[in-house]
Formats: sequence, structure tokens, C-alpha cells
Amino acid sequence: MKNISLERSKKLFQQAQKVMPGGVNSPVRAFTSVGGTPVFIRKAKGAILTDEDGNEYLDYFNSWGPMILGHAYPPMVAAVRERIEDSSSFGAPTELEIEMAELVCEMVPGMDMVRMVNSGTEACMSAIRLARGYTGKDKIVKFAGNYHGHGDTFLIKAGSGALTLGLPNSPGVTSGTAQNTLLANFNDLASVREIVAANRGEIAALIVEPVAGNMGCIPPQEGFLQGLRDICTAEGILLIFDEVMTGFRLAPGGAQERFGITADLVCMGKIIGGGMPVGAYGGKREIMSQVAPTGPVYQAGTLSGNPIAMISGLTQLKALKKDPAIYDRLEQKTERLHEGMDALLRKSGLPYQINRIGSMISLHFCPDPVVDYESAAQGNNDYFPHFFQQMLNHGVFLPPSAFETWFLSDALTDAHIAQTLEAVAASLETMD
Ligand SMILES: *Cc1c(COP(=O)(O)O)cnc(C)c1O
Repeated sequence: MKNISLERSKKLFQQAQKVMPGGVNSPVRAFTSVGGTPVFIRKAKGAILTDEDGNEYLDYFNSWGPMILGHAYPPMVAAVRERIEDSSSFGAPTELEIEMAELVCEMVPGMDMVRMVNSGTEACMSAIRLARGYTGKDKIVKFAGNYHGHGDTFLIKAGSGALTLGLPNSPGVTSGTAQNTLLANFNDLASVREIVAANRGEIAALIVEPVAGNMGCIPPQEGFLQGLRDICTAEGILLIFDEVMTGFRLAPGGAQERFGITADLVCMGKIIGGGMPVGAYGGKREIMSQVAPTGPVYQAGTLSGNPIAMISGLTQLKALKKDPAIYDRLEQKTERLHEGMDALLRKSGLPYQINRIGSMISLHFCPDPVVDYESAAQGNNDYFPHFFQQMLNHGVFLPPSAFETWFLSDALTDAHIAQTLEAVAASLETMD
């Protein structure tokens, strides 16, 4: 089999390392856990990424989730092009922001009001501050292996890059901050009840990824989310769904719609910006009214609600709302990929687990079901880096870590899925 040439990526990586820590602006991009040269991308169209050496790949990391309609989605390109002629920022209110807020409130269950920010990190940080301000309490509960961005409060057993790099507790986070973060186990209501009982009356909020996506994909077990809702309601704790990954992906209304459970606050990111830097948090009017300038909880942003970012996200959200059949198509394609991989892996004799929900899927090379942080960590072995490199060499770009979810886009065709399964078969042949 031919090895693809990454000559130019290699050169660029050397150059980049001199001026950027690790040569990247976000850690997992450096390929630390899968080895080899990070692939420098030049452009993308639909489901196809083109790198700086001219190699083409089917895209399954999807910019980590935002590009659900595929790259360079023509209506978005046209809308952005038109809008930027009228300048890229004002720092004053625009009509576009109302349209965006109205659409988000219409699509997302329980969302009376929303505030735009610039990233998922910012959304989660702000939601926690608001929860603390609203309840007058300091402590929060999070789940091991869940990732809520790089805010200090969350860098305690965090998923995603922190987990990939084995940095679950980051230096620079003060012990005072860490003390206010209580850790529970995903899919384990007993661990939540125990923490709540030991900290009665002191917990502002419980934040959870309704489908964990930053330690691979881990769907909630039957009754888990409802259990969290019940505990929070009974104890006066705000339930925060971090839907940065699941929002607009699992359904037009995200995991809340899919599971029929309404949180008190919801954090969004990724799809909401269509690839532009956008995050948002919102929920009940009574809580959101505490945000400045109506309330005392301060939160601001020079570029928040930026017109180019808004038109990009709005174009994508409108398309998703208008054609919910997109979600059925995505689900069918993901199921086909799942079944195909399952058959090939069973034949291979390798230990494996495939988790899937909607258009989120992940492969862990371990024998036991992956339901939480500990079981996911068992899949962090030599199999994944090898598989990743083989898939890359066969023209399929997976997220470069055993702890990341693969995302399908509507631009992937049945032929692409078949091509992907051929790559899986060829890759597995090199493994034993
Ligand atoms: C990606 C992600 C974040 C952080 O969003 P950024 O835009 O990278 O800051 C937060 N929560 C979840 C669940 C995520 O997947």
C-alpha cells in the first residue's frame, strides 16, 4: 500500500512549533496521542478535506462537530460573502441578533432567553457564574470525563484534550477553585446522590453533557438524565445541559428534545456558529434576567453576536429547522457505518466497543462496555493510534484521539460510507 506524502505538513509543523506552543492553537490538533505529523488542511468542500500536500480525506472529525451540513455549504458562503461587504463588526446591536435569538429560542426546549458568546468554553463559564449568582451557592457538580471547555472550574478530570494528554488536573487552577468542583461518575446516579447528600444546601448547579462526547461517545443509560432532573428539582440545584456538542446535532432541539428532558440552563457552541466562533447560553427567563444589564451577574463580549458569525450560524440553523429529514438521513448513514464496522471488527478478533447515537459514533478498542470515564480509559491503548494512522493513509480523517467522537455530516454520501468501510477493512488487516 502506498504511504501518503505529508512533506509539506511536516515542514509547516516544524515552522509552527517555533512560534506556537506545540505548533497548534488547540492541543489535540498536535496529534500527540496518535503520533505522526499533524495534517495541515488547506481547504474543504462538502465531506472532503484537502491538505497542504494535496491529499484528500473523508472528514469524520467535522471541525469537532460544527459542520453538520458539510464544508463550504453554498448558502452559508453566499450569506457570509454578502454580509461582510457591510463590515465585520460594530459592537452595537443588530437586527440579525434578534433573528438568531428568536430562532434559537424556538428550536431549543425551555429556552426563553439566550446570550451569545464566542465559544463553548465561554458559554459554560458564564452559565456557571450565572448559576452561582442566581442561587447564592458556590459548589458545582460535574462528571469525570465530561468536558466543558477550559474554564478553571471545569479542569478537574476533564475530557477531550485534557484527557488525551493525561492532564486531567491542570496546573494554574487554584485549590480554592478545585474545592468547589465536586466530581460524580457518568451514568451513576448513586454517585450523584452521595455527593448531593454530603453537600446539602451548598450546590449551585450540576453540569452534564447529556450525551458524553469528550471521552468517545457515551450515551446516557435509561433513566440517568431523568434521575438528574429529579435530584436537581428536589434539591434546588440548577441542572445545566452542556449541549455544545449535542445541540442541533441529535435533533433540532438537541438532547433535550431527543430525551424529553428540560434543563434549567443550556450551553451551546459548535453547530450554532456553522464554523464561526460562536457559543451561547440560555434558559428560563427568571434565571437569564439575572445577567447584566438587567441583573447583577456580569458577562460581556466585544465581539459577541458578531454579524458574520451570526449570519453563518443562522444560515445553518435555518437549514436544519427547515428540513428535519436531515436528521433521519444522518442517523441512517451512521447506522450503516456502525453495522459495517461491527461486522469487520467482529471478524478481526480485536477487542472493541462501538457507541453510537444520532450522527455521533466512536470506537474504543477494549472488551467491556464503555459507559463512563474509567471504562473509556481502557480504550486508550496502542490500537487506536495504529488504526487512526492506517485510516488516514486510506483517505479517512478520524478525530486524532481515542477519546473523541466522530461526527457525520449531511455531505457524506452512501458511496462515502462504503469507501470508509473499505478503509476500515484494509486498516484492520494490518492489526492483530
Ligand atoms: C467543544 C466543547 C466545549 C468547548 O467549546 P469551545 O468552543 O471549544 O470552547 C464545551 N463543552 C462541550 C461538551 C464541548 O464538546
